[in-house]
Amino acid sequence: MIKNSRTELRWGIGVVYLGRKPETNPKSTTCLMNDPTPVCIVGAGPAGTSAALKLAYHGIRCVLIDKATFPRDKVCGDAISGKVTTLLNRLDPAIIRRFEAEPGKVDIWGIQFYAPNGIPMEIPFVPAPGSDLPGAPGYVSRRWDFDHFMVREVERRPEVEVILGKAVKGYRPLPEGWEVQLEGGEVIHTRLLLVADGAHSRFSRHVAGLPVEKKHHAGAVRAYYRGVTGMDPRGFIELYFLKELTPGYFWIFPLPNGAANVGLGMRSDYIAKRRVNLRKAFEQVVQAHPVLSKRFAKAEREGPVQGYGLPLGSGRYRLSGDHYMLLGDAAHLVDPLTGEGIGNGFYSGFIAADQAKACIEAGDFSAAFMQAYDRRIDRVLGGELRLSYRMQRLARYPVLVNIIARIIHSNQGVVDAISRMYTDFEYRKQLINPLFWIRQMFKKSGSSAQ
Ligand SMILES: Cc1cc2nc3c(=O)[nH]c(=O)nc-3n(C[C@H](O)[C@H](O)[C@H](O)COP(=O)(O)OP(=O)(O)OC[C@H]3O[C@@H](n4cnc5c(N)ncnc54)[C@H](O)[C@@H]3O)c2cc1C
Repeated sequence: MIKNSRTELRWGIGVVYLGRKPETNPKSTTCLMNDPTPVCIVGAGPAGTSAALKLAYHGIRCVLIDKATFPRDKVCGDAISGKVTTLLNRLDPAIIRRFEAEPGKVDIWGIQFYAPNGIPMEIPFVPAPGSDLPGAPGYVSRRWDFDHFMVREVERRPEVEVILGKAVKGYRPLPEGWEVQLEGGEVIHTRLLLVADGAHSRFSRHVAGLPVEKKHHAGAVRAYYRGVTGMDPRGFIELYFLKELTPGYFWIFPLPNGAANVGLGMRSDYIAKRRVNLRKAFEQVVQAHPVLSKRFAKAEREGPVQGYGLPLGSGRYRLSGDHYMLLGDAAHLVDPLTGEGIGNGFYSGFIAADQAKACIEAGDFSAAFMQAYDRRIDRVLGGELRLSYRMQRLARYPVLVNIIARIIHSNQGVVDAISRMYTDFEYRKQLINPLFWIRQMFKKSGSSAQ
């Protein structure tokens, strides 16, 4: 594999051609821009649209390209965390007010975890310190709707040229940036490339050289259902750690009108080692699990069970190079414990936009200057990702999860502490301290966890 950041990357249908010069027939190649675009973003998912929005608020022109037209589906659990709403609110409270007014989403007020022995752990969300969010701390919103909302927000901004329904087919390094080659023969020359094309990003794999390491990767499947019974009336999402499927979990997330997003995810090395067929394991839970299957007795599935990969943020890679940055799933930023990738995609989008501003002001797009992006990602997300990775490794042991569940279940003080930990990262560090759990075991039920 070629890992040189200035390697030319071009692919045809099903074939990747590395290191070849693209055809330069001037008749078939149209340069979409007369002057090089300062910033070109590939991918209009959460990472790409958040970067475009933040750039627009910095007053920087950019082009945002996606192969899909919107609305479009993306296989996901559809849970939108407080990170997303907090960042949008900070950028412009008007955006979050428009999002609040969107139909088709459910307010989320907490999480119900179930240990392998079936003991429930109920964690209500408490607002992050200093939060002035008007609505719920989280949402479940189909990506069909949420990503469309974000694209419409970007389209409101005159600084962004949005090109939809056109796939990027290749990249060519230029002395002062990149040539982005679109299907149909057009090209865009840009000083700065923001790569936000998701978990299967070829640029990420073949130019930036990020490997797919199974222990830092997860597979997940999901399907939509209607008529699942026993849904939590308060708007709690449900996560089930099932003994035979750790480290990973089965989820049921509520959607409006009696619908639900239901799925199962697991670390890829365990899928391979135990030869788990995720689709079959999913069906098995829905049809035969002694407790859960009863809730699906009258439920109807809408559409197929679909799967997709999650590049977990537990590995450490270089996320930028000469004239480029990797964002979101292309940068492997999915939380290794929860599988949350939308919020981290947003963080990377916002940080990349700030770095783009710094590059333009300094006139410096070199790999050395771009390292500030990697450093800030590490400062903002690194500690949290490492902590989640440690917790994910603990979750491999069902017995340990059962013990923790028992402590939490019988101790309201611990519940309060974990609620706070969910939004207060510094406080959350206690979770991996064995002394914290030992202290809780000897506390009376209902006492404070501090
Ligand atoms: C089953 C499952 C459940 C999940 N559940 C959750 C959850 O509940 N909450 C959560 O926060 N995260 C969840 N995630 C993770 C989340 O889906 C991702 O982390 C998130 O979508 C990453 O956003 P992104 O913008 O980086 O990439 P994407 O959302 O994948 O967007 C990439 C975009 O790039 C476009 N693109 C790709 N190739 C090209 C090309 N060649 N040319 C032009 N455009 C291109 C695509 O069309 C797409 O629009 C889940 C993932 C899976 C698989």
